[in-house]
Amino acid sequence: MTIDARFDYVIVGAGTAGCVLAARLSEDRTTRVCLLEAGGPARHPFIHVPALVGAAIAHRGLTWGLHTEPQTALNNRRVPLPRGKVIGGSGSINGMAYHRGQPKDYDDWAAAGNAGWSWQEVLPYFRLSENNADLRDVDVHGIDGPIHVTYIPKPNRLNQAFLDAFAALGEYRHCNDFTGLDPEGYGLRQGTIHRGRRDSTASALLLPALCRPNLTVLTRSAALRLRIEAGRATGVDVSAATGGHVVLASREVLLCAGAIHSPQLLMLSGVGPAQHLESLGIKVKADLAGVGANYHDHPAVPIALEMRDTTSYGLSWRTLPRALWNVAEYALTRGGPLASNVFESTAFIRSSTGADRPDVQIAFQPARRNPHAFPLPLGHGFAMSVVNLYPHSRGEVRLASSDARVAPRVNPNILTDPNDCAPLLRGLRLARQLCDAPAFAPYKATEVRPGRGTRSDAELQAYLREATATVHHPVGSCRMGNDPMAVVDPTLCVRGIAALRVVDASVFPSIVGGNTNAPIVMVAEKAVDLITGRTLRGRHGG
Ligand SMILES: Cc1cc2nc3c(=O)[nH]c(=O)nc-3n(C[C@H](O)[C@H](O)[C@H](O)COP(=O)(O)OP(=O)(O)OC[C@H]3O[C@@H](n4cnc5c(N)ncnc54)[C@H](O)[C@@H]3O)c2cc1C
Repeated sequence: MTIDARFDYVIVGAGTAGCVLAARLSEDRTTRVCLLEAGGPARHPFIHVPALVGAAIAHRGLTWGLHTEPQTALNNRRVPLPRGKVIGGSGSINGMAYHRGQPKDYDDWAAAGNAGWSWQEVLPYFRLSENNADLRDVDVHGIDGPIHVTYIPKPNRLNQAFLDAFAALGEYRHCNDFTGLDPEGYGLRQGTIHRGRRDSTASALLLPALCRPNLTVLTRSAALRLRIEAGRATGVDVSAATGGHVVLASREVLLCAGAIHSPQLLMLSGVGPAQHLESLGIKVKADLAGVGANYHDHPAVPIALEMRDTTSYGLSWRTLPRALWNVAEYALTRGGPLASNVFESTAFIRSSTGADRPDVQIAFQPARRNPHAFPLPLGHGFAMSVVNLYPHSRGEVRLASSDARVAPRVNPNILTDPNDCAPLLRGLRLARQLCDAPAFAPYKATEVRPGRGTRSDAELQAYLREATATVHHPVGSCRMGNDPMAVVDPTLCVRGIAALRVVDASVFPSIVGGNTNAPIVMVAEKAVDLITGRTLRGRHGG
């Protein structure tokens, strides 16, 4: 390996978090920043056209192609683990839905020993990145940040049926603001879309920063391991098309490779459970039992309906002229159905009276869910994903090899905790009630999954085992805290190793009750202040 360059900060992974750090740290033109990304540039149209999100997720050139280990509670199925391998990371292939979770989630983080992470303390960092076109209450929302957030201008008509079906039940309230102080109920949801294109941390933060001479972005450059000398991170060994390189960091190495690859890289570098590392012949630099542990994600199960009616998004012979018009409309105006991420309405509800916050999400999709035709949206119908927002099951990431090119073993242990099924079952029954509501009657849709014959608790339990997957929000595998199983402290520094922080989904102590992208942007924005020693007030110059 040749030593190629020295920087103040070397950031590993240009995903949701890494792009924030690279852009913000390089604002100071005297600071030399290097951003390493295993994937290539974010040029593919599947990334940018919101309605092509399914095609982006399925594109092998944009993802790592990972699966879980066989899941014992899911009939030994291997569940797909899509992760972006491209500039923007998973933020370049995600569903663009904009949520923050519940305020109480962050108060729980603080109560678990993470000083500085309560809702009141993190709220300013949510606002910092946000540019909300519709919700202008500046106490809660950012209106001049870099990432554009908006409702879908013309949601599909089926969303109204979803909202009317909820209203007709009379038990739930309408929610105007799913990122406000009380995100509970049903309503339309916002997405990170700007002028008909995906707005990720790559497009909104990194792209405008690329012209800075003090920022170096190396694509198709995979970190093999972190260099740790005398208990201090000094740089990164990198494999690129041009061969092996070393990039050195005089201040800090910032690990932003996500909830699967950050623990992998720590373990490859000798930071992790000693016994596991020794079994693979890796020299232990810090015996941290928590590395790779506490991995968890939102489990979800679908209810899917098909119909002859063509109101939904989707392709069929009968709608071919409309589809051609939609392509022209998008090309000319950046509007129409192609400018929608399809995830246009949702609900956050409590599955039991004892729940202290909404613990189930029902995400509505006005499109046929057809796993066989995926990613092409063939045919018509609609679907709801029922999500358990606070699963108890915990899994782990472990090395399969000391060779960095071999994918790690990911075992989330989905639904192994018996408490995880009940919210899904209650949510599934409610979703079916919604589908049966008069609001959906004009569409004459037929339930194909789980199917009308699946009714009893035992049958629905069996369906959970057959159909549960996740909604791609893995967190927690380098958990923040101040107990022996914590990997980073509340300033995100790796315990026992100097000049090394982890800044990504893996530091979440526990999953939040909503989609994870905006919370990770918040973590990265806060990390910038922790790294530079500035305060939020200082960043606004006041
Ligand atoms: C299919 C899908 C749909 C989703 N939908 C939504 C949604 O609608 N709303 C929402 O809020 N959230 C959503 N999420 C979740 C959200 O996008 C992720 O939680 C978030 O992007 C994770 O950010 P991160 O910075 O932790 O990791 P990532 O964004 O995954 O970034 C990690 C980066 O590190 C790179 N990397 C990994 N290993 C190495 C290495 N050895 N060397 C160099 N680079 C490396 C990766 O290639 C990647 O670019 C979705 C996620 C997926 C996958």
